[in-house]
Amino acid sequence: MFSKLKSVFIKKKEIVKFRYLDEYFMRELKESSFNLLENEYLILRHWKHEEKLDLEKICTEFSVGMDEAKFIFSLISEMYYKAACEKAWDDAYLKMYNTGLVKEATLISAQDSGHKHCFFCSEKMNKKLPITTETYLAFQTECRCKPYKKSFFKPFISFK
Ligand SMILES: [Zn+2]
Repeated sequence: MFSKLKSVFIKKKEIVKFRYLDEYFMRELKESSFNLLENEYLILRHWKHEEKLDLEKICTEFSVGMDEAKFIFSLISEMYYKAACEKAWDDAYLKMYNTGLVKEATLISAQDSGHKHCFFCSEKMNKKLPITTETYLAFQTECRCKPYKKSFFKPFISFK
């Protein structure tokens, strides 16, 4: 009887779902300073390798000149990498979190030349952080790394 009651009151650890790559793509499109939403369909198809966008196609479909097409092409390439890298970072975090085995982890810089972590990440670098939904959400809302996070978590596993 008591154990049954107890199980009702002990909150089960919440599993956080992975987000689809499309959500990251849409965020990039919405946050872009350049209005790309008009051509959302074509860009998404290009990102998903369903239809290749080349410079000529950008010129005709977006009604722009060659210089602008080049700019758009490099912009959407950057956005693609940003979305893919952010998803990889989030997925790695959630994989670690969802195992339920990792309670703490140390944030490690995967710094390559010239990359500067944002203030939020810099403050947390090389520190052991609790692996919770709160930590995850804090990174989602506070991180301002440009163009994307270049860090990873080293899990701290305790058998206590
Ligand atoms: Zn950051």
